[in-house]
Amino acid sequence: HRLYDVTPPARDPQLLEQVIGAERFAAFVAAGRETAARFDGRKIININSTPAGGGVAEMLESLVSYARGLGIDAQWHVIEGDDRFFEITKRIHNHIYGLPGDDGPLGEAEHADYFAVHQGVADRLAEIVGPDDIVVVHDPQPAGLVPLAKQLGVPVLWRCHIGVDVSTPHDVEGWEFIRRYAEPADTYLLTRVGYAPEWMDRSRLRTVRSSIDPMAPKNRPLEPAFVRDVLVHYGLIAGEQPGPLAYPRKDGSTGWVTRRADILRAGPPAPADAPLVVQISRWDRMKDMPGVARAFADHLLDTDAHLALVGPAISGYADDPEGAEQMLEAMSAWRALPGSARERIHLACIPMTDLEENALVINALQRHAAVVTQKSISEGFGLTVVEAMLKGTPVVGSTVGGLLEQIVDAESGLLVEATDLPGFADALRRLLTDSDYAEKIGAAGRERALDLFTADRHLARYGKLIAETLA
Ligand code: UDP
Repeated sequence: HRLYDVTPPARDPQLLEQVIGAERFAAFVAAGRETAARFDGRKIININSTPAGGGVAEMLESLVSYARGLGIDAQWHVIEGDDRFFEITKRIHNHIYGLPGDDGPLGEAEHADYFAVHQGVADRLAEIVGPDDIVVVHDPQPAGLVPLAKQLGVPVLWRCHIGVDVSTPHDVEGWEFIRRYAEPADTYLLTRVGYAPEWMDRSRLRTVRSSIDPMAPKNRPLEPAFVRDVLVHYGLIAGEQPGPLAYPRKDGSTGWVTRRADILRAGPPAPADAPLVVQISRWDRMKDMPGVARAFADHLLDTDAHLALVGPAISGYADDPEGAEQMLEAMSAWRALPGSARERIHLACIPMTDLEENALVINALQRHAAVVTQKSISEGFGLTVVEAMLKGTPVVGSTVGGLLEQIVDAESGLLVEATDLPGFADALRRLLTDSDYAEKIGAAGRERALDLFTADRHLARYGKLIAETLA
């Protein structure tokens, strides 16, 4: 097993100024410099279990690169697991979210196989972590590194990005499994206080809001004509194939958008001028892609809208063994729909082989969308929602987890119960048919995303919380 370095290069935070304004930018940089001085060369070592795919990798890439741009020696390392390891961690994930899983146990045999992966990289960890450094372990997968890092005598923060409100009946088995490893952390960083299992010492508990980087390939501004061309290139909307499509890559080189004929998909491309409802998610039960298709098929075929359900090509995620199965399930759900619905509902798996290009396509979809949905059954924090909000695209989310904080219902988006398919369809219909309302909701969503959920806010909060561990 390996623990390998994927630290991105420094990114100049100046990029953010055009989005957050001069005053806020100046305050951010001043605070960042102060934090850098406070850390005094200490490395801030972040560890998760996948270099790409999903929200955590997305955030680490931008936060670590901006922190480096501010003179903080933030690093990002990834622990490599095997199939058995990810089978166990997916089980933990499903238990925490109360989702049906593979019914397998979480007993002593699983503890042994899980922790063996962390013990296998203990020497490497000791090489990476110096006596003055600080370790931030992200999510349950690498949680076995918490006690190992503690043994090195450094402050350890456990940032758990997932969670459900534990005030309602919930499954404790996943939390109990993790407790054995995560409990000794100096600080528990959760998205919401209500996610904390009972064993967490409240005096060590802090909350952090997740964020997006407004200037990342996933979010940076794009011209409408370019958006259309990218989506045509990918066969997501119909149209004349444009000529070669260039875009600037992060390293300053020119990228060319791939002409994709090889995308695994169901349904024809959506007409370019039809309002498009879009949900972008990993193929995971908690995202309920089949439920979105059902709601659309049962209640919205009388509109002129189309629906696109978009996820990663199934090889994309190292840490998600159920992705392929869930993708196939969404495909079967689509196949079971009447022909009139299949014409209007489009499934696509977008390759993750080139992450910058993938981000560009997702960016284009979120901009082209009339409405972006996230009808999750559970959701720790839905980055896809913030990504859409930042683009001024109105969102419909479900009343679960982080979405409850992200969206103020009827102000910066609409919230409906995940199981209420007619209610979900009504919310979509309102946004599809009342363009003034949709615009108002979209604009308020953008304001909220900028105010609360952008990288500068997130970094400032991390800086403060990490500094606390040195006090
Ligand atoms: N994402 C992507 N390609 C896909 C599906 C998702 O790039 O095919 C991205 C999406 O844009 C978002 C992240 O993966 O940035 C998903 O984060 P979110 O918090 O919504 O859900 P998670 O996957 O962490 O449960």
